[in-house]
Amino acid sequence: MFQRILVANRGEIAVRIIRACREMDIETVAVYSTADAEALHVQLATRSVCVGGPKAADSYLNMQNLLSAALATGCDAVHPGFGFLSENPEFARLVEKCGMVFIGPSGDVMEKMGSKSAARQLMTAAGVPVVPGSDGPVETAAQAAEIAEQLGYPVLIKASAGGGGRGMRRADDPRQLEAAFETARAEAVACFGDGELYLEKLILDPKHIEFQILADQRGHVIHLGERDCSIQRRNQKLMEESPSKALTPQLRREMGEAAVKAARAADYRNAGTVEFVLDSQGRYYFIEMNTRIQVEHPVTEMVTGLDLVREQIRIAAGLPLSLTQEEVRMEGHAIECRINAEDPAHDFRPHPGKVEFLHLPGGFGVRTDTALYPGYSLSPYYDSMVAKVIVRGSTRLEAVRRMRRALEELMVRGFPTNQDLEYLILYHPEYLKGTYTTSFLERELEGLLALEARAEKEE
Ligand code: ADP
Ligand code: ADP
Ligand code: MG
Repeated sequence: MFQRILVANRGEIAVRIIRACREMDIETVAVYSTADAEALHVQLATRSVCVGGPKAADSYLNMQNLLSAALATGCDAVHPGFGFLSENPEFARLVEKCGMVFIGPSGDVMEKMGSKSAARQLMTAAGVPVVPGSDGPVETAAQAAEIAEQLGYPVLIKASAGGGGRGMRRADDPRQLEAAFETARAEAVACFGDGELYLEKLILDPKHIEFQILADQRGHVIHLGERDCSIQRRNQKLMEESPSKALTPQLRREMGEAAVKAARAADYRNAGTVEFVLDSQGRYYFIEMNTRIQVEHPVTEMVTGLDLVREQIRIAAGLPLSLTQEEVRMEGHAIECRINAEDPAHDFRPHPGKVEFLHLPGGFGVRTDTALYPGYSLSPYYDSMVAKVIVRGSTRLEAVRRMRRALEELMVRGFPTNQDLEYLILYHPEYLKGTYTTSFLERELEGLLALEARAEKEE
């Protein structure tokens, strides 16, 4: 087993990784930017190294400095968390070249799945259903128009290198296509430095259903069931749950097998997620594979009782999976709410500030993953997600009630958050039924925000 792991991240996920390491008796080295000297992950790690200035490009994305820090402190492995360099094949290769273990799949696998258009082709060849779309990248708007005509509108123009819901544009007819193509290209270049685009048919009103995969270095691949991540705003997940109300045991088995097949086709190692959209007819289509631990991994942990970060570390160290597919037990129901420092009243713009007061929810079946503490000042340089509240109940209704109670207890003063919006969602009839799709929040947002504004006035 490893003796010392460099955690190449910040925020709650860095804290999450450090906690798993402590329980495994592995030392940790935190890295931080000059803006993060007071951050919680720095305080919890065995030791820490400053790797650069506040801008991510100067610190958390600075491969030379991260590698120097790892080597200088005698680390034998690097955990990338999510975001930042977690899906960067070059970084994974450099870590290995320096004689350390990258806790994740190989650079080659990452490269294969990192291009979403190439991943589609690989999945098609492996017999995993993909959304009808272009065979590989699309070069020009004219070519896109031709393919869209064959697919039928509406279509989605997507960036091969896309992530975080960006670089994606919908076109409902030929007139919209050219403009959508150009905006998608501009956004792809700006966000990912890569303008390659591909086309998919837009599946109307789907659910986002993803499967958690674990694959060890000995050829064992298992899935840990699904997460329903259909509560989204601008294609970004907000609340997730497991299991999904939309899956029958039969469909779960089928999709789980498809996810395992996808991982095998990619020759996948470590933890990963296979994402699908599921239409109202129960047809499912692969959209992408995420080659890292995911923000919403705790809901799977709550229903399976497995520590996914621990599994990642064990797999990277060459140990076998700690269980077989038959031994996976999913019990109860789990929900996660992402708490973002943003102002819903002003188009959800990120809103950093100082934590004036903090009370985190606790009690039976409640877990809070955060790097916040009283007096901590949020930096404007990084992602606005500052906490995740996760609950487990023996039934879905119990989980919903528990999450309401947890959000009632959660008190963060010093900046606005999306907490009240999520609380209202927990009372929405469509949410209660569990039948909501990815268009739910866009459709209901205005009404929910009006409710929230009214409630605030009455307070
Ligand atoms: P998921 O992991 O479920 O796919 P997202 O794609 O919404 O969820 O979130 C992952 C993305 O969110 C990252 O790729 C990154 O852009 C951003 N992100 C969120 N939190 C952080 C963080 N603490 N550090 C770095 N990136 C983050
Ligand atoms: P990202 O890399 O940004 O996560 P994804 O390809 O996973 O991009 O898509 C993000 C979200 O956009 C999905 O969760 C889903 O809600 C929506 N989406 C993506 N592709 C389609 C599609 N073909 N039809 C309908 N919705 C889609
Ligand atoms: Mg995705």
